[in-house]
Amino acid sequence: MADSADTGDLTALINRMKSASAPLRETLQELHARLRGVHDGEVATYIPELARANPDWFAISVVSVDGRVVEVGDFQQPFSIQSVSKPFVFGQALEDHGREAVLSRVNVEPTGEAFNSIVLDERTNRPFNPLVNSGAIATADLIRGQDFPERLTRLLALFSRFIGRPVHVDNAVFLSERATGHRNRAMAHLMLNFGMIGERVEETLELYFQQCALVVTCHDLAVMGATLANAGVNPMTGERAISAGFVKDVLSVMLSCGMYDSAGEWAFRVGLPAKSGVSGGIVAVVPGQFGIGVFSPRLDPKGNSGRGIRALEELSQRFGMHVFEAGFGGRTLRDELGRG
Ligand code: GLN
Repeated sequence: MADSADTGDLTALINRMKSASAPLRETLQELHARLRGVHDGEVATYIPELARANPDWFAISVVSVDGRVVEVGDFQQPFSIQSVSKPFVFGQALEDHGREAVLSRVNVEPTGEAFNSIVLDERTNRPFNPLVNSGAIATADLIRGQDFPERLTRLLALFSRFIGRPVHVDNAVFLSERATGHRNRAMAHLMLNFGMIGERVEETLELYFQQCALVVTCHDLAVMGATLANAGVNPMTGERAISAGFVKDVLSVMLSCGMYDSAGEWAFRVGLPAKSGVSGGIVAVVPGQFGIGVFSPRLDPKGNSGRGIRALEELSQRFGMHVFEAGFGGRTLRDELGRG
């Protein structure tokens, strides 16, 4: 936090933060109250454990690169991270192998198809990108480690750095995914057939299912986003989660592929690197400024949180946060956070 060292008085600092953030809090409260009335879409049920989610959970969290937090709703409600994990694991694969080696196993092209489509690039046999299931499984295969425990430990450490606390896996969700993940298993074996993933295919699937079942809150998603916004350093802990040089790679695929088959429309309307998951979370990044987490389990037909999309669409438009208009005037979220 920018000026905490000057005062040495935590209470004064917190009070100042509270008043500085008041206008944004009001904006988020208003948005939250209004969008709570939106009941479009369905909670995901194809992973049986996900069907237990309360469809009315709804939270919005904003975390700035200097560690200020404004959040409303059920921002402490735990849920499984699902596909929101994918860009972060892509980042770890880049760290482990470098850009070209990773790109030889997974491309960075949007598919225009559903997140679980069984499709590989015809010429190279690569999955299209690391943010659809096939590409995410290929990416999980790249996580280094002598054996499964070491790979899992490294994966958990990655998320701990991004979130700023120890993380754990929801065992019920993990078992539920493993028991029903036939499509993911089929895809993994297809990729094994083409030499896109290694022989330890069952182990890699296990790692992928664990990764999807990791427990987070909406607050955590915002901190993870703020870490990417902050060139890879977690603003709450000061710890580096990913090398600065790979952050733009992660953000680029999030912008072009993060919202599956609505990625093009998302880039057009919202213009923020983002990633959604079937449990209803979305992380969005305003580079150099904020991470935003949104969580609500009702999904549109493409598997993205309905309220989440609307909230981010409105915030982006209201504050001119589209990456191609950011900084061109208007009332920015940064102004709002600094008012008072
Ligand atoms: N674990 C989910 C799956 O593999 C992740 C999908 C998602 O969140 N879009 O199907």
